[in-house]
Amino acid sequence: MSYQDLEKYMNKRQALNAALTLFSWDQETEAPHESVDKTSMYIGELSRELFDTITNEDVIKILHELEDEDLSLKQQAVVKHWLKDIEKLEKIPAEEYQAHSELLLKGQHVWSEAKLKNDYASFKPYLEKIFKEEKRFAGYRQINNQPLYDILLDDYEPSFTMKELDAFFNDLRNEIVPLLKEIQQSDHIIDKSYNYKEYPINKQKVFNKYIANYIGFDFNKGVIKESEHPFTTNFHNCDVRITTHYYKNNLESALFSTIHESGHATYEFNIDDDISLTPIGVGTSMGMHESQSRFYENMIGRNPLFWKNIYPKLQNFFLDNLKDVSYDQFMDGINKVEASLIRTEADELTYPLHIMVRYEIEKKIFSEDVDFDTLPQLWNEKYQEYLGITPKNDTEGILQDVHWSSGSIGYFPSYAIGSAVAAQIYAYMKEHTHLESWIENGQFNMIKAYLGEHIHQYGAIYNTNELLIQLTGESFNSKYYIEYLKDKYTKLYHLKR
Ligand code: ZN
Repeated sequence: MSYQDLEKYMNKRQALNAALTLFSWDQETEAPHESVDKTSMYIGELSRELFDTITNEDVIKILHELEDEDLSLKQQAVVKHWLKDIEKLEKIPAEEYQAHSELLLKGQHVWSEAKLKNDYASFKPYLEKIFKEEKRFAGYRQINNQPLYDILLDDYEPSFTMKELDAFFNDLRNEIVPLLKEIQQSDHIIDKSYNYKEYPINKQKVFNKYIANYIGFDFNKGVIKESEHPFTTNFHNCDVRITTHYYKNNLESALFSTIHESGHATYEFNIDDDISLTPIGVGTSMGMHESQSRFYENMIGRNPLFWKNIYPKLQNFFLDNLKDVSYDQFMDGINKVEASLIRTEADELTYPLHIMVRYEIEKKIFSEDVDFDTLPQLWNEKYQEYLGITPKNDTEGILQDVHWSSGSIGYFPSYAIGSAVAAQIYAYMKEHTHLESWIENGQFNMIKAYLGEHIHQYGAIYNTNELLIQLTGESFNSKYYIEYLKDKYTKLYHLKR
């Protein structure tokens, strides 16, 4: 057997995967509303073919033989990655997997109705069943009695367990919750009413394109379209697509989502050509991907240095709305802290607290016999404790996210991991490169090249911790993130220290 034998299957795997990705991109952006029922037949056929291409006996034989061959680092990584995929799929009996997929399809539908009608009771049996089955599947994959929740965490952020995350969230609870309380009691009032004036969407589109270009989004290899919720998708390093959503009465929303998704896109543009068309030719994990988008959105996009030269451009562009808004007021505005109930609308400081609520609930469900009737109450109590606000109903409480209904359990922590990793990378680059002058002078080719060299080019060859240690000499920790948040918001809100 040689690596070429695997390549035959790999090309097919990549092509089928690309076709499926294209369908899902199309469903979110262009496909007509009524297409979904019939298109799902195509998707079903392609998915079955993909499953077979990844797990057929011939491929398994090739992979096991290649394990003992003398392969390059990249080839070894492909084999390892592929075997992990098989391990995940093989241990769950096919009928149970099929039944679970159907439950999730139904579950998402019931969830969206329940959210609309503020009706937790109708979703509860599905939620309970989804957790129960996910737990059982994790049990099939358990080795050495590891905690079941750790198995799911590893799916989204390889090598991260409750041990690291408990330490991380404990630090946040001890440092960030009191900081937020101080801010909520401070008398520094930030007026950002300018943000909610009317900003014509056509003009927003022009400015967003300008800003994407400014920060290095490559329009020869990428496109920007619109969708309900912004996201990034990619086919290889020469076809990366992002979306945004424009609101007439909110300037920031599309602006920062474009910067965020451009961060995701930059990761994918920078993947090495040698691995671009392989299963490891993608960002290494949810958390590392999110670190790159937040690096662009928060560390760069909400940075006073970034706006020094381009705020006058924005101001001139929307002169009617911004002529009386000074640079300082705008900087305060885009960094304002407002505890809110909805995770996706959260500011930079309160965001991880939303994640902490979800992490603690998932963990509790996995570790004890939880009565699902009590979950909405538990959710509300945690919001009161950490954010100082209580949801009025379950629609803005426990029903707000799609994740659990689609079986994405263990996913949420990767958002918070991303923010912390971004701060860790920022602190290192600030010290060892000219990062801040690059930001101020718009030298995004330098930033793109640096992140490309140290993180992006490797795709999924190394995991988050391996990349962090290679770059900064330290593994994941909360120190830089907490320092960054404390420093930033103490200054912004003139808190006494
Ligand atoms: Zn993101």
